[in-house]
Amino acid sequence: MANDADLVIVGAGPCGLAAAVSAQRAGMRAQVIESSVVVSTIASYPTYVRFFSTAEKLTIGGLPFVIATEKPTRRDALAYYRTVVTYFGIRVRQRERVTAIQGRSGDFTVISRTTAGEERRTTGDAVVVATGYFGSPNRLGVPGEDLPHVTHVYREGHEAFLQDVVVVGGGNSAAEAALDLWRSGARVTLVHLGPTFDKKIKPWVLPDFTNRVKEGQIAVKWDTRVSAIELGEVVLTTSGKENRLKADRVYIMTGFAPSLDLLRDTGVPINPTTGIPEHDSKTLETTIPGLFIAGVVVAGYDANKVFIENGRYHGDRIVARLLGQRAPAEPKLSAELDA
Ligand SMILES: Cc1cc2nc3c(=O)[nH]c(=O)nc-3n(C[C@H](O)[C@H](O)[C@H](O)COP(=O)(O)OP(=O)(O)OC[C@H]3O[C@@H](n4cnc5c(N)ncnc54)[C@H](O)[C@@H]3O)c2cc1C
Repeated sequence: MANDADLVIVGAGPCGLAAAVSAQRAGMRAQVIESSVVVSTIASYPTYVRFFSTAEKLTIGGLPFVIATEKPTRRDALAYYRTVVTYFGIRVRQRERVTAIQGRSGDFTVISRTTAGEERRTTGDAVVVATGYFGSPNRLGVPGEDLPHVTHVYREGHEAFLQDVVVVGGGNSAAEAALDLWRSGARVTLVHLGPTFDKKIKPWVLPDFTNRVKEGQIAVKWDTRVSAIELGEVVLTTSGKENRLKADRVYIMTGFAPSLDLLRDTGVPINPTTGIPEHDSKTLETTIPGLFIAGVVVAGYDANKVFIENGRYHGDRIVARLLGQRAPAEPKLSAELDA
């Protein structure tokens, strides 16, 4: 009996959807399974964020992404990827988390569980894992981290108007959140355990932040750790000394860790230092024949190598391998992303 699909794709991010389009174009039956909603990572971006990439560089399957400005907003992108699903007739099941992948090339079973608790089994000739980078936030592991005024995801600054807020982290998201909160009328202190920002901060964000600090509009505490969070306060440790800071809201912007458990549990070796699942860089096939990876999961812990711009072509390489053809070349990234 034929399998349910030729290619089962785990994750309906832009790269999983692109892989489905590549497969369908080659005459394969693709089934996408998504634990949340289509492009859920984009749905959880800061509400008013704009992409660095132009609309053209985010397109899938050549479907035009038409907007009136140069760079799309989060909302533009959500509308575009919904159109991708309907236009290409991508078969996607949402709110269904894949919990295990069993079997081998030509005979895989993908086991998933719906939010209603029903277990489903989907058979496929080959499987692509495109589960992305935003599996779980890097937690501080301090008491009070789960209090209701603490968040690991930044949406917008309005909620913090005229309030004391602490932003934790030294990366781009921390700097951008601190600036947006200040622009929304919050009294902001950024706390970071290092002596300065991390290297990968966007070149146009850094001078804006530095000027706000120089002008006394945003406070910074470098070389400082958060040791606990309480209602209305954070407990900090600087050079071994404890101090407290008023905090009506706490934004923990310490990044995310990719979802690698599924691959690990399936038997794909994961490099302990880089987090990269062992795979052939040309075909993206893992050590398990017929099991592929696509999208940011290919880059392990480094979220600055694979973006939508290049990850949207991973499906073409996978399909080329399944058809026994030569893999297409990797495209060049925009200068803004290739920093
Ligand atoms: C603020 C911000 C701005 C950005 N701007 C740009 C930009 O301008 N240009 C650009 O190219 N990139 C940009 N990026 C990066 C871009 O969002 C990622 O590169 C992209 O989302 C990666 O796509 P993906 O399909 O690999 O993974 P994701 O988009 O993370 O999708 C993975 C999907 O898999 C699902 N999933 C996870 N585990 C399971 C499971 N077990 N079962 C079923 N489903 C599962 C998740 O729910 C998710 O929907 C930006 C990122 C951020 C945070």
